[in-house]
Amino acid sequence: MASRVGRHTLPQRRALLELVRGSCENRPGTYRMLAEAGRVLYVGKSRALRTRLLSYFRAKGRRNKSAKILRHTFTIEWQYAPNEFGALLDELRLIKQHRPHFNSAMVSDEWPRAYVALTAGSVPGLRVVRRTDDARASDLWGPFRRVSHLSDAVHALAEIAAVRDCTLEESNGANAARPLWFADAAPPRGPRRLRTPGCLRAEIGSCPGPCIGTGNAAQYTHSVKLVRDFLNARTNEPLLRARERMRIASEALEFERAAVWRDRAELLEWLWLRVTRFHASMDRLSFVYRTGDSSENGRAYIIRRGTVRAELPLPSTAEQETALQAMSQRIFHEADPRGGDVPMHDLDEFYLVASWFRRRPDELLRTSQPTVAP
Ligand code: SF4
Repeated sequence: MASRVGRHTLPQRRALLELVRGSCENRPGTYRMLAEAGRVLYVGKSRALRTRLLSYFRAKGRRNKSAKILRHTFTIEWQYAPNEFGALLDELRLIKQHRPHFNSAMVSDEWPRAYVALTAGSVPGLRVVRRTDDARASDLWGPFRRVSHLSDAVHALAEIAAVRDCTLEESNGANAARPLWFADAAPPRGPRRLRTPGCLRAEIGSCPGPCIGTGNAAQYTHSVKLVRDFLNARTNEPLLRARERMRIASEALEFERAAVWRDRAELLEWLWLRVTRFHASMDRLSFVYRTGDSSENGRAYIIRRGTVRAELPLPSTAEQETALQAMSQRIFHEADPRGGDVPMHDLDEFYLVASWFRRRPDELLRTSQPTVAP
């Protein structure tokens, strides 16, 4: 794609350099590198914007990442942030807004990771997806590093909970996707294929078979809730079921079947351990974080379950402190409209906040706990 983006000329490059030298200050903030037509190619952040931007002009070599980005840049825009944490939050929001090509290209170079997703629609299915912006996902959990292990665990979860994990897309009006429906519901209009070549799950009873119009809608809703509750660390029922089936098979001397359920139970145990850890760390990330001093750069961030719910200037008077306390009380005391889940659009922010405090444990000294646990 980069080869299709135009390159600037030498005079244009000099003009960009003069722009940065002449007007950019060495303060925290974010910057956007724009292509000729104004499309955002790259979003970055820095504690010292001027130094960071000038470093692009010293970068050399065809393969050098900074040099490559700069070659295609026709405009540079930036905005200041009160501090580095604020710049990080701004960077994340800008990347989500613009989805710049060079940011995406760099993410794909990172360690392999994947997420568990529940697809949208009236017959949600379990999937393993590679990105938080996967269009098919309506709920997301992760990331997980062992992608193939995760796929096996998700398949085991789908089997035990009787939820589909196929790649069939639901019918959406005029599109050509396959209709999915249950025996107790009216079949959707449009072209229908009544069998599902290649999928044995309906045959062996581990999926109610909405692809062939069998099963019960209410029971499926219950199954999807079980999956959701497991991934939200509210119940380990699927794991207990797998162990129970292993025990029954073993007592019936059906050792092959017992081994299959033992393997599934181990996969579910692996997944359960990770989701419970994830939710425990989310609960720990609830506090008021004060950064900077009481000058214009100071900020108080009210963070609940790993996402920033409010940002205020750092109080410098008793009245402002009272207002901050009142807002924190309200945010931490009121029922969380999101329930126990992190909405998928907040997942990246949760990981950003978690990573900030993991890498800078001293910053936790600047936090204060809410008076009532969320
Ligand atoms: S039985 Fe049908 S709906 Fe269920 S997983 Fe297989 S193809 Fe999908």
